[in-house]
Amino acid sequence: MAIRLASRIAAVKPSPTIAAENKARELRARGVDVISLTVGEPDFDTPKAVKQAGIKAIEEGFTKYMPTAGTPELRQAVCTKLARENGVEYRPEQVIVSVGAKHTIYNLLMALVDPGDEVIIPAPYWVSYPDMVLLAGGRPVIVETSAERGFKMTAEELSAAITPRTKLLILNTPSNPTGAAYTKAELEALAKVVVEKDILVCSDEIYEKLVYDGFVQTAFASLSPEVYARTITVNGLSKAYAMTGWRLGYGAGPVEVIRAMEVVQSQSTSNPSSVTIKAATFALANPAEELPMMVAEFDRRRRFLVDALGSLPGVTCAMPTGAFYAFPNVSRLLGRKTREGRTIATSYDLADYLLDAARVGTVAGAAFGAEGYLRLSYATAMPKIEEAVARMRTALSALE
Ligand code: PMP
Ligand code: GLU
Repeated sequence: MAIRLASRIAAVKPSPTIAAENKARELRARGVDVISLTVGEPDFDTPKAVKQAGIKAIEEGFTKYMPTAGTPELRQAVCTKLARENGVEYRPEQVIVSVGAKHTIYNLLMALVDPGDEVIIPAPYWVSYPDMVLLAGGRPVIVETSAERGFKMTAEELSAAITPRTKLLILNTPSNPTGAAYTKAELEALAKVVVEKDILVCSDEIYEKLVYDGFVQTAFASLSPEVYARTITVNGLSKAYAMTGWRLGYGAGPVEVIRAMEVVQSQSTSNPSSVTIKAATFALANPAEELPMMVAEFDRRRRFLVDALGSLPGVTCAMPTGAFYAFPNVSRLLGRKTREGRTIATSYDLADYLLDAARVGTVAGAAFGAEGYLRLSYATAMPKIEEAVARMRTALSALE
């Protein structure tokens, strides 16, 4: 029987970050010694006390269905965190917890976006934003930002992209993949346009703790009451608490939006795992002692990797301010040929070549809307990063 899939499936692709990681994983399963700098996943273990909270939940039989949007304790713990660390006051009914921040954003788009609605996404962007907008039936409007301005969208660029169909802006700072982080003044300039043009903002702040060189992070919703009324703050535990596999993200914003997201969630996944809910409640109430150590180690790797990439033939790399990705410009390598005579025409070809010839997994910049770049995660142990760079040097030197 010829199975006809829903047309929405033809409009989207699998997540390229996850696809790149899966490719590296498959090679490793076949015994190939691959160093994967693909997926954005801390190599650190979940803090011990958080794990203990999860184990205790299982032992105490905390293993049943939960309220869809999360337990009152966890929603309150999110409010307390946002007030304490970000200077934004929310009530528990303004908060929903979901199966990862990815799920939170998906629920938000399903709750807000009608067919034909436009969602503004500055490029380079995290791979999932445009495809999630498409799944919701909306139209992603990509705003190119320039490397010279550190890949940060200006108020003029935002203003020019807004039309009567604009529903939402997705802002991600610090950014995956570039590590660009907006200062308070830069956010204020964008906020002025947001309020004037009366659009909503999804502020994805999942990398807020991973900032370097003394950068001060500002929560978008904290800028003014007018901005607060238009913002849905998104965050999660994957990055700052090394809890990727536990799957816990959250959103906070206007009550009617959160209620609509809860409807979507109640008809799809219901609550996140009860065990994760307990562990997350503990984690948010007890800021991780391990965090400063993790940030210091990411910083050390950032400096090493960015310098080392800049010394590779045909590669330049700017220093990111946050997150755990290097985003080198490799445009001078495009058009070159491998020894076997294959032309490296795109960043996808280059990522494939590096996987084949150097056994190093990277993600093509084109997947983030930035052809001519590669993304390398430095959430990997230092010796592996050193070895990866050495292998890349050999492979890139062999290009003709
Ligand atoms: N936002 C950004 C910018 C990300 O890089 C990611 C990937 N980790 C997420 C959201 C989703 O994270 P998670 O679903 O693991 O909470
Ligand atoms: N967000 C991480 C990344 O960009 C995890 C994988 C994903 O969900 O995209 O690599």
